[in-house]
Amino acid sequence: MKLFPLFADLRGRRVLVVGGGVVAERKVKSLLACEARIVVGALDASRCLQELSRQGRIELIQGVFEPGWLAGAWLAVAATDDRELNRRVAALAGEHRLFVNVVDDPELSSFQVPSIVDRSPLTIAISSAGSAPVLARRVRERIESLFDHSLGSLAALAARKRQAIRAARPGLRQRRAFYDWLMDGPVATALRAQRPLQAERLLDVELRQAQGRPIGKVILVGAGPGDPGLLTLKALRALNEADVILHDRLVGEEILDLARRDATQIAVGKIPGENHDATQARIHELMLAHARQGRLVVRLKGGDAFVFGRGGEELQFLRRHGVPYEVVPGITAALACAAYAGIPLTHRDHAQSVRLITAHCRQDNQLEDWPSLARGKQTLAFYMGASQLDWLARQLMSNGRPGDTPCAVIENGTRSNQRVWHGRLENLAEQAKRHEIKAPSLLLVGEVAALAPELEWFGASVGQEEQERQALSA
Ligand code: SAH
Repeated sequence: MKLFPLFADLRGRRVLVVGGGVVAERKVKSLLACEARIVVGALDASRCLQELSRQGRIELIQGVFEPGWLAGAWLAVAATDDRELNRRVAALAGEHRLFVNVVDDPELSSFQVPSIVDRSPLTIAISSAGSAPVLARRVRERIESLFDHSLGSLAALAARKRQAIRAARPGLRQRRAFYDWLMDGPVATALRAQRPLQAERLLDVELRQAQGRPIGKVILVGAGPGDPGLLTLKALRALNEADVILHDRLVGEEILDLARRDATQIAVGKIPGENHDATQARIHELMLAHARQGRLVVRLKGGDAFVFGRGGEELQFLRRHGVPYEVVPGITAALACAAYAGIPLTHRDHAQSVRLITAHCRQDNQLEDWPSLARGKQTLAFYMGASQLDWLARQLMSNGRPGDTPCAVIENGTRSNQRVWHGRLENLAEQAKRHEIKAPSLLLVGEVAALAPELEWFGASVGQEEQERQALSA
């Protein structure tokens, strides 16, 4: 190890920053966060630095660098764009046995400033000893995505309760188990939900228990439409932490591959033709059984759990049984398919509203309000309609939507095998049959669909394939 890692307490200690530009400004801001007593010396100081000086938060010396500036300082930072001057500052600082950082110059520096993941009071510092700052930044990004911002409040709460925890859990093993519970259990859940009072109450109650008992929880996670890049950071974190993953059929391998290696994965997807209520009951039982054994259960659904995903029912069940839960939204198919097909769902000229509709209503024998669906100036997104495109088109047209209304079908949206067909309502049924459109696919109806040929940027367009084939054979 080339550098010795160290966290310095700079509160009230004099730190000299030489330079008055944006780079100096950045250093000053991070030093200010640590309450250092900052002296900035520069020929020209930026407006921001001048303002900080006016507010009395820093001392500003305007002029040509003088060795006297270093007197009384604990640290120095050279942040000018004059390499010669930086070199002089570094050399003089060395003579005074002062640690100096020359911005972007590890050779001249006797200390370096790491990349930081800030979950104060918890701070994670990353350094590549100046050899690969880009790599350090990448590692930082990865770590950023692993820890929720509420980790800071958790660390602060743990610090405040340290004595009480020590008293209630005198044994090291007991204490370790308690901290595990604190990190993974309901206290962390409450903090993530921005409920600090509840978090503290839960912690106090738990401390009064003779010893920690396991409490699991369920995170209801929307996995998005298929492209793993569309997972949220929270979804990724949940997959990293899960003990058990109950996933739908729509969730692909690529996403499941991101889960913690030793997590148990259980496919609980509903198969068409099967008794869905029985499957749903089994899902409820599985969630409950695993959570009661203290496990972290991730209930992973395609798209968003609250859009045609029965997420609401699952939460009602968990609430009835006192199992704590969190919800992580996902990108729902309508948003994702529209984006990946180049179809803006709203447009100032063409559509002022969007409706998400399940075509499943046909089987459930529920009547939709077809006349209102057939009205213009709106975009309709039909889910679960792959096998009934014919019926959908006929309903819309017989209720007054013109046959030349643009529409598009997106099959396997956002995945590598995405196919998009776009055309007119009157041709929809015949074309879908001809091109063998299969589930999962989403039907978009409305003027905005006509923009697809102009704005498309991803995957295959079904019409286009045909044109290309014709061109080849001609
Ligand atoms: N909760 C999900 C929807 C579940 S219903 C969400 O928010 O997206 C299942 C229907 O969603 C499918 O029949 C299909 O209409 C649509 N769907 C889901 N993923 C899709 C994808 N990648 N491409 C096209 N349609 C998709």
